[in-house]
Amino acid sequence: MLWTLNHLLVMLLLFAVGAAVGTPVAQSTGFGEALGTLVLALVMIVVVAILGWPVFRLLSLRPLILPICPHCGMRHGNYHVPRDVWPAAILFCVHCDKPSRLLLRTGVRTITMEPSELPTLSLRWPGFLGIWKPVVIQPTPGRDGVSADALPPP
Ligand SMILES: [Zn+2]
Repeated sequence: MLWTLNHLLVMLLLFAVGAAVGTPVAQSTGFGEALGTLVLALVMIVVVAILGWPVFRLLSLRPLILPICPHCGMRHGNYHVPRDVWPAAILFCVHCDKPSRLLLRTGVRTITMEPSELPTLSLRWPGFLGIWKPVVIQPTPGRDGVSADALPPP
């Protein structure tokens, strides 16, 4: 997990929003102090889990946990995703120098896009944490890598 100042500020803001939402909910339950605190903590976690990824996407912040290289199994030390490549980035491993593709989207198991030799990783919910999973890529229909010029005449 790698935090920058932007990540820290956004997470503090998200927990503050969670506390603002959770405090009236905890008070309205009528539980004692201990159970009220537990309700407040649960509401804060739910609010952060729901709002975290939309806010990270809006600000183009990379997820907190760094991906593991599918080639060598080592965790990346750091990376930065420029705004112009969002939401898909090619990441070169600092250990083995091999590339992999990161899809900064959640809920993707199979995706239709340009075929590639690159191993592709996508995010599990909630995306802001950075829990990565491999993705199966299906070639785009009609684009099987053979151009119309290379086809034999009918
Ligand atoms: Zn590697």
